[in-house]
Amino acid sequence: MKKINYDVIIIGAGPAGMVAAGYLEKTAVSVRVLEKQHFPRFTIGESLIPRCMDNFAEAGLLEDLQKENYQKKTGARFIKNGKIAEFDFSKKFGAGWDWTWQVPRADFDLKLTESIQKRGVEIDFGMEVISAAYNDGQWDIVYKNPDGILGSLSSRFIIDASGNGRVLAGLLELEAPAKIYNHSSIFTHIQEENRPVGKEGTQITFEIINTGVWFWYIPFSNGISSLGFVGENDWFETFSGSQDEIFKQMLNQCEFYKDRFTGQKQLFEPVKLSGISKNVQLLHGEGFALAGNSAEFLDPVFSSGVAFATESGLLSAKLATRQLGGEVIDWDKEYTQHIQKAINVFATYVKEWYTGRLQDIFFTDNASEKVKKQICAVLAGYVWNSKNPFVRNHDKAIRNLHRLLHAEKIN
Ligand SMILES: Cc1cc2nc3c(=O)[nH]c(=O)nc-3n(C[C@H](O)[C@H](O)[C@H](O)COP(=O)(O)OP(=O)(O)OC[C@H]3O[C@@H](n4cnc5c(N)ncnc54)[C@H](O)[C@@H]3O)c2cc1C
Repeated sequence: MKKINYDVIIIGAGPAGMVAAGYLEKTAVSVRVLEKQHFPRFTIGESLIPRCMDNFAEAGLLEDLQKENYQKKTGARFIKNGKIAEFDFSKKFGAGWDWTWQVPRADFDLKLTESIQKRGVEIDFGMEVISAAYNDGQWDIVYKNPDGILGSLSSRFIIDASGNGRVLAGLLELEAPAKIYNHSSIFTHIQEENRPVGKEGTQITFEIINTGVWFWYIPFSNGISSLGFVGENDWFETFSGSQDEIFKQMLNQCEFYKDRFTGQKQLFEPVKLSGISKNVQLLHGEGFALAGNSAEFLDPVFSSGVAFATESGLLSAKLATRQLGGEVIDWDKEYTQHIQKAINVFATYVKEWYTGRLQDIFFTDNASEKVKKQICAVLAGYVWNSKNPFVRNHDKAIRNLHRLLHAEKIN
């Protein structure tokens, strides 16, 4: 029988792939990473949430990241019609990290790969996986380099962390209709002149343009700030011109930030993405697991993408290790159910954000501190704590609270 090259091949060196690699490196499992691009490479997804920190720690990545002086994120601010709602992660319900970072992903993802390489894991950059076939417990994987030259490797298991490359979802025809099909985004970076000192120049803020559209301001510690809009395609279609012109017209609709950001030098022409939500029919199969965006992505509104990527990267690596060690793993129970729980909670919050109910709750003067803490724990990514009623009864809790607040307003 042909020798199998590696126990696990990871496709993609973003956060999902690097957290998986970090966990596997600590075990007896042999691992190699194939990455299509050369790093540093730009990608979006710059506001982390505290749950990521648990995953970076468990993958042995936290210590290196902590040396990088990224902008600390201790909460988030939302602004709508001049009203402000702030969440402070130190005031959340239950245990967990009280802070995380706002990160320029080109640099952050590079640091993740360097930290992993330092530990001896091979990452091949510029290698695009183009096919993978599974037979008799063995994957045969074909990749090509930028010159089009083909190579092949074999493994017992694949963790597909290829993000929007969605390698296995494509090859195995696992794509499913997205849960949110009508949202687009446009974003750029600026080197902000005269950035205010203190909170105004460090705190992540979301300005709500209307119920279906919002703007983000994410300042980094390197003086660069990320600006972007997310929302319904219909709203995007009301603008015309070059991406630059469109972005300027959109900025003009920000009551709070219009004056501050209009005329600031952009570091690249605004990038527009459509169809940002992704979905699959299943999260695992014989000899493989899908992690991060290669599996599912809902919406950027609660910055859950990297948390989900690291959670699924870590868990898939743990389960693959046990399986390769001879254990029979119930992947539905141990993987799909855990990941699906998070997807379900965030899906409710995303949905209720765009119905406007959650926005009403954020900006009401009448919500109790207790409720705010429970919602704050969800925003921090602690979405498995069944002691939190806003996790346990997520689908009903928001609607019931909204009804109650609305009734109080009427009376
Ligand atoms: C507009 C927008 C805003 C967002 N904002 C946030 C935010 O504020 N916070 C947040 O947490 N998330 C955010 N996200 C989501 C976030 O971008 C992703 O969830 C996150 O980057 C997923 O990480 P990943 O490791 O799964 O994939 P990625 O980081 O995309 O990494 C996948 C890697 O796989 C490689 N690859 C692809 N195809 C192949 C192939 N065939 N062979 C080999 N390698 C391959 C790619 O080159 C890439 O480097 C946002 C998303 C959008 C669209």
